[in-house]
Amino acid sequence: MICPFCRHDDSRVVDSRPAEDGAQIRRRRECTECGARFTTQETTLLNIVKRSGASEPFSREKVIAGVSKACQGRPVNNDDLALLAMRVEETLRATGQAEIEAQEVGLAILAPLRELDEVAYLRFASVYRSFSSLQDFEGEIALLRAAPSTPASNNSLIKSTTAVTSSGK
Ligand SMILES: [Zn+2]
Repeated sequence: MICPFCRHDDSRVVDSRPAEDGAQIRRRRECTECGARFTTQETTLLNIVKRSGASEPFSREKVIAGVSKACQGRPVNNDDLALLAMRVEETLRATGQAEIEAQEVGLAILAPLRELDEVAYLRFASVYRSFSSLQDFEGEIALLRAAPSTPASNNSLIKSTTAVTSSGK
């Protein structure tokens, strides 16, 4: 991304957030040469490849639909779900890949869902990972107890998004 002030071609991302439709990402950048800050709106492709081989654009609504069943009766509101879907999208976009397997979407859902609600997480994981026995649940619960969830810091998110290559130049 070229600095609009000094034309230097390297900049650091200081903030990053998806725009409303999710297909665009707004980044606050800082020029590594002159230190000027500027905002870019970048269009990034993100397609989800299904097991059948068909692909479709990533949709936050589908993420929400996928987890809302697991969240039934739990103290999780629409804002929580919207935030979760946003974090999933950020995680997937941070991989820098334009195409992501559907399986990866499920994986990206697990961590933020666990932070949101452990019961909903267990329900989702049981379907997603095809738990087939009580032992599977016991094993997962033991893991939950052994490693309390720690929210990812904003810093690590920003660091990972700097690796994203966008289609816009
Ligand atoms: Zn500059």
